[in-house]
Amino acid sequence: MAKIIDGRAVSLKVKDSVKNEIAENKLDVSLAVVIVGDNSASRIYVNNKKKACEYCGIISHEYALPESTSEDELLQLVEALNNDDKINGILVQLPLPKHINENRIIERISPIKDVDAFHAENVGKIMIGNYSFLPCTPAGVMELIHSTGVLVKGKECVVIGRSNIVGKPMAMLLLHEDATVTICHSKTENLAEVCSRADVLVSAVGIAEFVKPEMVKQGAVVIDVGMNRNADGKLCGDVCFDEVEKKASFITPVPGGVGPMTIAMLMKNTLMARKIQK
Ligand code: NAP
Repeated sequence: MAKIIDGRAVSLKVKDSVKNEIAENKLDVSLAVVIVGDNSASRIYVNNKKKACEYCGIISHEYALPESTSEDELLQLVEALNNDDKINGILVQLPLPKHINENRIIERISPIKDVDAFHAENVGKIMIGNYSFLPCTPAGVMELIHSTGVLVKGKECVVIGRSNIVGKPMAMLLLHEDATVTICHSKTENLAEVCSRADVLVSAVGIAEFVKPEMVKQGAVVIDVGMNRNADGKLCGDVCFDEVEKKASFITPVPGGVGPMTIAMLMKNTLMARKIQK
C-alpha cells in the first residue's frame, strides 16, 4: 500500500520558510494578481493565492477586470505594473477570455516579475539550467518527490502531458536531476507499456480515471497533477487512486497533493522576484 504524499504539509513548510524570511528581514514583498472575467475556477484559484499571500506576509493587489476588457487595455495594465517599483510579481490568471491572445500578454510581463515563469526568456533559462524562477506546478512536484526521499537520478521517469506550463517544464526539471525522462502525449503509441516502465510517473492530462493500475509499475512514485471533476461533480485527479494506491510506493491525493504546492511555489517565486529586483 502506498504512502500518501501530503501536499498540504509540504506546502506549509515552503510557505513557512517564505514567511520567516520575509518577517526576519522585514521585507516589503508584493504580488499583483490580475483576473479577467468571471471564470468560477479562476476566482477560487485567485482567492487561494490571496490567502497564501496573507499567510506569508506578501501584500497582494487584485485587479479584477470585466470580461469585456480589450487586449490593449490588459497590455496597458501589465505595462503599468512592470513600471511600478512597489510591485514585485505579476500574475495574470489563465485562461483569459478568447478575444485576448494569452501569449501576447505573457510576453509583455517583465521577465523579472514573471512569477509564473511562463515568459519565453524564463522558459529558455530553465532549458539551460540557469534560472531565477521555476514554473510553480512542476517545481511543486519536484518538492513532493524530494519529500519522499526517492532520488530520481538514473531512474525512469515518465511524464504524461506536454503542455508548456506543466508537462514540458516537468520533464526538464526531472532531467536536471539526472532522471531518464520520457514525455507521453495523445499520439504516444503503447502508452500503458511506456508508463508501466516508470519508477516515477507524473500525470498531467486532465482526464479523470486516466491512469489505470496496469499502467503503473509495482513500487512506483505516482504524482497526479490532474484536476478534474468526476461523474458526481467531485474534484479528482487523473489517477484511479484506490487501485493505484495498492501498487505504488508513494502517491499524491487530489485534492491535497500538487494543488497546494503550486500556490506555495508562487509565494517562493514572489519572494525571489523581490530579491532579484533589489
Ligand atoms: P493541457 O494543456 O490540456 O495538456 C494536456 C496534455 O495531456 C496534452 O499534452 C495532451 O496531449 C495530453 N493528453 C490528452 N489526452 C491524452 C491521451 N489520451 N493520452 C495521452 N496524453 C493525452 O493541460 P495542462 O494545462 O498541462 O493541465 C493538465 C492537468 O493538470 C489538468 O487537469 C489541469 O487542470 C491540471 N493542472 C493542475 C495544476 C495544479 O496546481 N494542481 C496546475 C496546472 C494544471 P497532446 O499535446 O498530444 O494534445
